[in-house]
Amino acid sequence: MARRSGREAGLNLIELVVVIAILAAIAAFVMPRYLQGSSKRADGQRGPVAAARDTVCKSNLSQVRTSLQTLAAGDPDGRPPSDLAGLGLPAEVQRCPIGGEPYRYDAASGRVQCVHPGHEAY
Ligand SMILES: [Zn+2]
Repeated sequence: MARRSGREAGLNLIELVVVIAILAAIAAFVMPRYLQGSSKRADGQRGPVAAARDTVCKSNLSQVRTSLQTLAAGDPDGRPPSDLAGLGLPAEVQRCPIGGEPYRYDAASGRVQCVHPGHEAY
């Protein structure tokens, strides 16, 4: 078997496997820190993906509340609707993006809350 020599040979298979293994090791180290799920890190900070999902939950609640206010303003008695199904919003806007729990709606007061742990104040 003839071996190529010098720079023209480029990467051989062993070198390619070593590079891929190093990249895989780096990805395995970094990705759990980046994704982070909904758990907290030791320093109390959350990963960017979890923080983004928190923001989506706040945005969903804002959309639901705005729709409720709009419907209540159009109602002759000014009452909020009896349930969230009548809002005409997509199903994914009516539940928490992290836990998938449907938002809790109190028709008497017109209040909407997320029941996911840590989202009660949104
Ligand atoms: Zn939530």
